[in-house]
Amino acid sequence: MGQRPQSRTTGSRRGPLAWVYSLAPTVGIEATAAGFGAVRGHAVALAGLERALARGQLHHAMLFVGPRGVGKAKVARALARALHCPVAPRRGCGECSTCHRIDTDRHAGLEWMVPESIGAKIKVEAARELATRLQLAPFEGDAHVVVLDPAEALTDQAFNTMLKTLEEPRPGVHFVLIAEALDGLLPTILSRCAVLRFGRLGDDDVAFALDHALADRPSDDEVPAARRLLAIRLADGSAGTAIELALDVTLDATHALLREASRAAERGPAVIFAGESSALSTSWASATAGPTTGKSARERLAVMRTSELWLLDLRERLRGRDGVPDVVAPRGDRRAWTRATETLIELQTRLERNANARLAFEAALLDLWEHGDDART
Ligand SMILES: [Zn+2]
Repeated sequence: MGQRPQSRTTGSRRGPLAWVYSLAPTVGIEATAAGFGAVRGHAVALAGLERALARGQLHHAMLFVGPRGVGKAKVARALARALHCPVAPRRGCGECSTCHRIDTDRHAGLEWMVPESIGAKIKVEAARELATRLQLAPFEGDAHVVVLDPAEALTDQAFNTMLKTLEEPRPGVHFVLIAEALDGLLPTILSRCAVLRFGRLGDDDVAFALDHALADRPSDDEVPAARRLLAIRLADGSAGTAIELALDVTLDATHALLREASRAAERGPAVIFAGESSALSTSWASATAGPTTGKSARERLAVMRTSELWLLDLRERLRGRDGVPDVVAPRGDRRAWTRATETLIELQTRLERNANARLAFEAALLDLWEHGDDART
């Protein structure tokens, strides 16, 4: 518990991009932002906070709820700047030494309560220690912001220990609970919090956050423009996901395999089984390259990644947006895309049951081709 590591993203790791989360290096999405004006998106939530600050009526327990990676923690930090900044009170200038210390986690007026590792729980002892300290310890400045991120990480017992503190904290203390969804949180918690909802970001805001994060990271490795665009398009309004995708070097090989697989699924057996020198086989070899040991696990992972990317492509098309660049859409209408989605989910089920990855992949390509054939007749 304590200071928030800069290189950590938060939130549970589930959903269609689970493999990306488990593999890609992660960075925080903090950009050097000056006040709320520099936080992208979330106009309604930010306007509510600004109003409350202006009236001196900021709630002592706020729950920021919304998808992972959209900037909830960033807004919590901006709120701490707004409360502490001597240059631009109630807004935060983003330039002064106070703002700078808040941005770099060197200001005692902003405290993060986070689990030791992703998926770990925050236990009752930590909650008890926090509650005691908030009663007694001296503060730096007039305000003290405590961010619980993610709120889901607190055990029910830990929450119960903090109920009284949450309900009636010492003047100046503001809790920010960060969560992806309301279900899973105790009703006794919800009833004590002012809820601020955060939606998905637009692609422009995702691109803005991604470019800031890429510029801020210590490594100089260039992220290829094609991967950057792919990351933005696939991130589904989550800047955190876009950053993870953009830094995932394996995404290029996965994308190449998907491109060839989608072509093979359109053209049929002659291309699916065209032999070792075919474009499909070459991209398969790149996506599964590595030592002799662990080959079958690597093949399963490659097929799992490719099917994930393919599912994302279909999701985008079903929403009426562009699919993944260079990927051939299944022939037919929305029904065909839905059926292709089912085929790919079936493929993933077979992989989870330890089917031979290459055989299962080829069988899925044949299925997709046959469905396409149905659509033609
Ligand atoms: Zn400042």
